[in-house]
Amino acid sequence: MNHLRAVPDPDATGPRAGSATSVRVEAPGKVNLFLSVGAPRPDGYHPLTTVFQAVRLIETVTARRQALDARGRITLTLADPDDAVPTDERNLVVRAARLLAEATGVTEGVDLLLRKRVPVAGGMAGGSADAAAALLACNHLWGTGLGLGDLLDLAARLGADVPFPLMGATALGHGVGDRLTPLMGRGTYQWVFALAREGLSTPAVFARFDELSAASAGGAGAPAAPAEVPEALTAALRAGDAAALGDCLANDLQEAALDLRPELAEVIETAERAGALRAIVSGSGPTIAALAPDSATAQRVARALCASGACADVVRADAPVAGARVVG
Ligand code: ATP
Repeated sequence: MNHLRAVPDPDATGPRAGSATSVRVEAPGKVNLFLSVGAPRPDGYHPLTTVFQAVRLIETVTARRQALDARGRITLTLADPDDAVPTDERNLVVRAARLLAEATGVTEGVDLLLRKRVPVAGGMAGGSADAAAALLACNHLWGTGLGLGDLLDLAARLGADVPFPLMGATALGHGVGDRLTPLMGRGTYQWVFALAREGLSTPAVFARFDELSAASAGGAGAPAAPAEVPEALTAALRAGDAAALGDCLANDLQEAALDLRPELAEVIETAERAGALRAIVSGSGPTIAALAPDSATAQRVARALCASGACADVVRADAPVAGARVVG
């Protein structure tokens, strides 16, 4: 494998690269404001046009040096153990650390601690945020000093949703969602997220999307290319106009997610009846993301969702927020 050149990054913030014994990084979850899906490519991946927004549901990864006698291993501990989150090589945090080590020739290993706040398998890219945080934390701990461009390349190799949490704020995604362009915007948006009792598998939702598109297009399937983002959406972001943004929210995976979980329709209705501008399935679901016009309405929507008993939990978060950053 070609090693990436590990050089001190002049833009690196936080502890001096390579000198710290512990580096803590925070990275945000996301909501898709727009998600258009094309027909699967020959490699099986679906081409996407999407608009990501980073929300204040924050994952924290702490990377620590190991004792000298334990050096060379990559280990992961969860701050709150969860049966749905593996701690071995299946975890994106471990895979991210290993990929960076291989790409830069580092052999010293790391102890990683993960604190999760993004719902697991909820369509909010929690695992991807963790991987982005792990890349940045290890880059600092090991003093490998890769710049953002190299980290984004490594992130894309880990998964389509991993580059975005490195960038944060609001961004347009092309390719499989990994080719990012930042979008200008102003203002703060108030989101209410209704969490489901059980996660949905992203591949299962895409498979149902393919079945439904084949059935509805007389067997032709989805158009080869995804739709472009409407000008009204980028204009709403530039103006910081929540009501106009609400009108533009769209998710091609919503029908498939609702087909797999019909009870989510009631969650959407409850949120909109309580004053949400719009409520949609977040990414591949099953989280429902409700956009509120202001903080008081967000509180009302959250209360209505809690009282309905139709979801497992409700969390509020404002957006957009910054991408992965070293905090200690
Ligand atoms: P996306 O929106 O990118 O499709 P998601 O938010 O729906 O992702 P994740 O929370 O990232 O889903 O987790 C999906 C699955 O990935 C989990 O069921 C779990 O088995 C596995 N996984 C691997 N690494 C992690 C991680 N760090 N946190 C949570 N789950 C992880």
